Amino acid sequence: MTDLKSLLPDELEEYVLALGEPKFRAKQLFQWLAKGAESFEQMSNLPKGFREKLSADGYVDTLKLLRKQVSAEDGTIKYLWQLHDGNAVETVLMRYKHGNSVCISSQVGCRQGCAFCASAIGGLVRNLTAAEMLGEVMYSEKDSGEKVSNIVIMGIGEPLDNFDNVIRFLRLVNRPEGMNIGMRHISLSTCGIIERFEDLAREDMQMTLAVSLHAPDDETRSRLMPANRGRGVARLIDACQDYYKRTGRRVTFEYAMINEVNDSPVQAKQLASAAKRVGAHVNLIPLNHVEERQFQPTTPERMKDFCRVLDKAGVNYTIRRKLGGDVDASCGQLRRSRELEERRQE
Ligand code: SAH
Repeated sequence: MTDLKSLLPDELEEYVLALGEPKFRAKQLFQWLAKGAESFEQMSNLPKGFREKLSADGYVDTLKLLRKQVSAEDGTIKYLWQLHDGNAVETVLMRYKHGNSVCISSQVGCRQGCAFCASAIGGLVRNLTAAEMLGEVMYSEKDSGEKVSNIVIMGIGEPLDNFDNVIRFLRLVNRPEGMNIGMRHISLSTCGIIERFEDLAREDMQMTLAVSLHAPDDETRSRLMPANRGRGVARLIDACQDYYKRTGRRVTFEYAMINEVNDSPVQAKQLASAAKRVGAHVNLIPLNHVEERQFQPTTPERMKDFCRVLDKAGVNYTIRRKLGGDVDASCGQLRRSRELEERRQE
């Protein structure tokens, strides 16, 4: 069966031509898919014969809402979707003054094993298809009744471990006749799979590359993030510099503040020098406590001291506002809590 929603417009054209239909039908089909049509019957301007041919080999991927939590504090919505094979992924819709932003997952689970992250606990199950990622955006819009203007690929999974499907998704969601979300409104977050940075730069997309740095020294970073072992911070910073040179786009460093692990003044200094070298914007994130993990968020005092060093060094940084604190709104926590519940019921 062909996953029609994952096909780019020119691929749909080929597909339609191979079915013996005129090219313009591909455009109509793409528009229906981009509008969120769930069945061929709905596609009322397509002839019945064509719809029959389509359903013989093609299908429209759909997501089913499993669970939804709405934050009473700030209206953040956390969705848990069921995929066609029974797996589940999360999407978070956040409301900002400048518009709505969705945080989407790129994989079911993750193989990177970061020590503080809830997504890593069960390992990687599988990659998401482009259609499934597109579905996360589409169904969030549909359910909330609100337009999504920004996308961050910062949910479950490591997007650069699912490179081809993520690029395909980005192209699809960016199409003017589709969801039409501009590349400058999209961020992709990685734990630092530097082997892929060059490929990403070659795509020449104008999205923001966010790098989960979380520690500026190899000892701490390798302890927190297995992806650092065998790569190292110095090579990561070089790769960020190359990326900037090739694309003209500054990277962002994500930095989750973990009490007495990565929040010392010395580490602030090291972070400042790395950030200045590549012109990176630093995003300080209060750590979300994960039940199974021993790490605690930084204390306000340590945060203040850390920021003082960054200020002095003239680093460009923001402290990420915590949204959806009352709805498990951090990576993998809703999917994880469902798994735990299922286990308790067994
Ligand atoms: N794999 C990608 C994207 C998914 S994680 C990456 O590593 O960037 C999205 C972001 O959330 C990453 O910066 C990740 O390190 C961070 N994160 C994971 N667990 C967290 C936690 N418990 N508290 C705060 N941030 C966390």
